[in-house]
Amino acid sequence: DMSNAIVAQDEMGRPFIIVKDQGNKKRQHGLEAKKSHILAARSVASIIKTSLGPRGLDKILISPDGEITITNDGATILSQMELDNEIAKLLVQLSKSQDDEIGDGTTGVVVLASALLDQALELVEKGIHPIKIANGFDEAAKVAVKHLEKQAEDVAVDQKSFHEYLFKAAKTSLGSKIVSKDHDKFAHMAVDAVTSVMDLDRKDVDFELIKIEGRVGGSLQDSQLIKGVVLDKDFSHPQMPKLVTPKEGHDGVKLAILTCPFEPPKPKTKHKLDISTVEEYQKLQTYEHDKFVEMIDYVKQAGADVVICQWGFDDEANHLLLQNDLPAVRWVGGQELELIAIATKGRIVPRFQDLSKDKLGTCGRIQEMEFGTTKDRMLVIEECLNSKTVTCFLRGSNKMIVDEAKRALHDSLCVVRNLVRDSRVVYGGGAAEVTMSIAVSDEADKQHGIDQYAFRAFAQALDTIPMTLAENSGLDPIETLSLLKSNQIKEKSSTIGVDCLGSGSHNMKELFVVDPLIGKKQQIMLATQLCRMILKIDNVIISGKDEY
Ligand code: ADP
Repeated sequence: DMSNAIVAQDEMGRPFIIVKDQGNKKRQHGLEAKKSHILAARSVASIIKTSLGPRGLDKILISPDGEITITNDGATILSQMELDNEIAKLLVQLSKSQDDEIGDGTTGVVVLASALLDQALELVEKGIHPIKIANGFDEAAKVAVKHLEKQAEDVAVDQKSFHEYLFKAAKTSLGSKIVSKDHDKFAHMAVDAVTSVMDLDRKDVDFELIKIEGRVGGSLQDSQLIKGVVLDKDFSHPQMPKLVTPKEGHDGVKLAILTCPFEPPKPKTKHKLDISTVEEYQKLQTYEHDKFVEMIDYVKQAGADVVICQWGFDDEANHLLLQNDLPAVRWVGGQELELIAIATKGRIVPRFQDLSKDKLGTCGRIQEMEFGTTKDRMLVIEECLNSKTVTCFLRGSNKMIVDEAKRALHDSLCVVRNLVRDSRVVYGGGAAEVTMSIAVSDEADKQHGIDQYAFRAFAQALDTIPMTLAENSGLDPIETLSLLKSNQIKEKSSTIGVDCLGSGSHNMKELFVVDPLIGKKQQIMLATQLCRMILKIDNVIISGKDEY
């Protein structure tokens, strides 16, 4: 119904439609709308802010059904908060984008975006048009990133020192996580995992090849990197061997990887299956038995030593497998099946008839691992033909710790991967932000008109990062910031940052608080984009129930 709609033009000459009489819907527009967006963003940011940095606080999140998560990870906190405000949801997406692209800096990007919005609000209140602010921020972001690139250091000088760097960077990313006590172990695991699977020519790392498995029990210290695949399964019969190694004269253990069930197809009789006599029952049994024997024959003929099966099978099939010296695993998930196929260079086979020697996977050994007092067992497929598959196997005393360890490890895997992709680093603890802030402030004086304000505002937003780090570490934010700025200028250094842990040094290079350049760049770009997006929203139609 367009009868209550009027087409009008705004001050820039763009057409828009005014819809009158929206029932109980409330409209917010102009300054009022923008303010309420920014306030919503601010309330989200205030929750996130206290988690930033090595002294940041962990959050306990309790889901509606009572599940508890303890985390320090911005993306995780945001993704589990129940938000019904649209702008707040945009912040959640923002941290998710940072997580997807880079995997780290998810808290920082939200803190920066909301600081930019705060600054924008002040400018809007001064009467500056939102689009002009957004344009000014874009220009300022370009200056900031360009300056950052100039300050960045390439750490891939030689193989050995690069490896050391990877380790130190991984360790930094673990600094603020639950696993911080075991961070040497986890950092080594991250570097080993990435360097085992990385493609040096393409300078890339395929995360599909790195699997993270967790098991409750033991301690974080018991976690280990397994060069191969870990399956949360055991062999289908307790009498099957605990360790499978190549048969005499064979170059490896051969695996049949099957997506067909180990069960006989329904007999193809013209009549319905009708068992009324013992004879008929025996006939059916013989039929089933023959079918099982046939299937096992196919497997044997192809030369397989072990059967990996996507489906289950019954006791009779299981028994026959045991009798035929074919250790088997049932109910293996699709993703695991694929990983095993990649790792062992085998093919996933959908029909027994299709099995052949060349489709079998190859590995050096398959071992059943037991865990202490628990009855838990896992299968470890090692020395695979394609050595480029690894599993990070994490242990921890409870589910919350295992889950947080998984997230922490994922973060440091990302940091290492990012450095493999681009080996330039900048310095953390707010050092990079202060450097950019100084550069953008310097440029502000050279700008004409509105951009001057936007540049200054942008620089102030960057300052929020070192200030928040200081605040979270119990330091005076303003004092710390001015000290950092004056020292960076005096010493012409871009490595001076906040000494969050009270180590006595402000030199982040000495403390090895490093961040990959691409991660920091991504934060600046994403936060600036989000801010533009929100500044462009001029009208929000709020339906009655959704009032903020
Ligand atoms: P994010 O989710 O954004 O990565 P973190 O809570 O991991 O948030 O905090 C990262 C910030 O803390 C970065 O700015 C990083 O440089 C800084 N940081 C980490 N470790 C230290 C440290 N030891 N000293 C000073 N700053 C640190």
